[in-house]
Amino acid sequence: MEFTPTVSQEQLVKIRRDLHRHAESGLSEFWTTSYLAEHLAALGCEVHLGEEVMDRSVMMGVPDPETQEARLKAALAQGADPKWLDKMNGLTGVMVDIRPDLPMHSVLRFDIDCVDVCESQDADHKPTAEGFASINANECHACAHDGHATIGLGVAMELMRRRDKLKHNVRLIFEPAEEGSRGARPMVSAGLVKGAKYFLAAHIGVNSTQDHALVCGTQGFLATTKFDVELFGLASHSGSDPHKGHNSLLAAATMLLNLHAIPRHGQGASRITVGMMSGGSGRNVIPDYAKLVCETRGATTEINQYMFDKAKLIIEHAAAMYEQKVKVTIMGSAGNAVSDKKMIDVVKQAAQDVPYFHKDLITEMGQGFGTDDACTFITAIQEQGGFGTYAQIGSKLPAGHHNQRFDFNEDLLQPSVELFCRSTFIMDNMD
Ligand SMILES: [Zn+2]
Ligand SMILES: [Zn+2]
Repeated sequence: MEFTPTVSQEQLVKIRRDLHRHAESGLSEFWTTSYLAEHLAALGCEVHLGEEVMDRSVMMGVPDPETQEARLKAALAQGADPKWLDKMNGLTGVMVDIRPDLPMHSVLRFDIDCVDVCESQDADHKPTAEGFASINANECHACAHDGHATIGLGVAMELMRRRDKLKHNVRLIFEPAEEGSRGARPMVSAGLVKGAKYFLAAHIGVNSTQDHALVCGTQGFLATTKFDVELFGLASHSGSDPHKGHNSLLAAATMLLNLHAIPRHGQGASRITVGMMSGGSGRNVIPDYAKLVCETRGATTEINQYMFDKAKLIIEHAAAMYEQKVKVTIMGSAGNAVSDKKMIDVVKQAAQDVPYFHKDLITEMGQGFGTDDACTFITAIQEQGGFGTYAQIGSKLPAGHHNQRFDFNEDLLQPSVELFCRSTFIMDNMD
């Protein structure tokens, strides 16, 4: 297939840096969604937003209303178009169909949210040195989703120019809140992959940390459950009446230690992390409130369920020890999925014609690390008889994912756009 890129590497780098500077946390990607909507509309795409793309009734882990309001205001102050913000109606994420007049066929997924970490101010951190570090405190594109969204926009530009050559519809999904596994479920529930046969998503880096490398499929994702635990005790005077209080922080600390002591599962990897603990109100007050922010993971959905069930048992009993009322809220979840050989072959074949990817560095199946919400899409597609894959685009990384010094090699942007476009046309010619 002839493919002469029409979107320049310079254009893509500019988009990537715009997105990087305006990093936004999951479900608060107001500026980012508005930016993508503006660019997609300019290409002539009908832009789908808000309740068209997100089923509000199944959403989990939505930031509290004050946080959302503050982030919305920040997005407006940073130049987000009120026209798009109105259409979003508080929901982030975008979807476009390249050929809405043709039958639904393939879906490309690009995630757009950032990580809750403060970007490094070190002079040798490239985004800081070159002036495109995040302007939002504790919001940083430390997982390359700025790169993914850029590739998605590039793919939209290239496909819109070639739309007459397509025999089927191609749907581009810009997913909010991949972090915390919160974006895919509401999108699947809104029907975004209904009728689709083929699914392709890719992540920069992961276990592919060599420039010019490409892993065409992934296995070994971890299923996960994200949950918050809130403890409600009883405050009392720490000098005169400590015996009258019900200490929520002690209960939380007991939980924390025992959650991390859950026996490992014999049939595969398991994880538990209490990532945050907070509570109490003053030095001389027996703490009457505490909160733990936690997650479990497992090599299979069953192993993750084992971890979560054990966690619930510990939470319940540690709460009883300290006479606490306890509330567990599920904030996000994802299963695991294995890429299909049929789709791995599509990506592999497409990569043969993208010179950037070195032939000896193209591999079929790699290991995932952690979790990706793409699994929720892949599972939905597989359940309706379709096929999906999750590729890993190689890049040397100055620091690991979710680290404040994370960055990736921008040279991969244009070749990745080409990879997605070539894959799309291969899928388009499959039944
Ligand atoms: Zn991540
Ligand atoms: Zn990621």
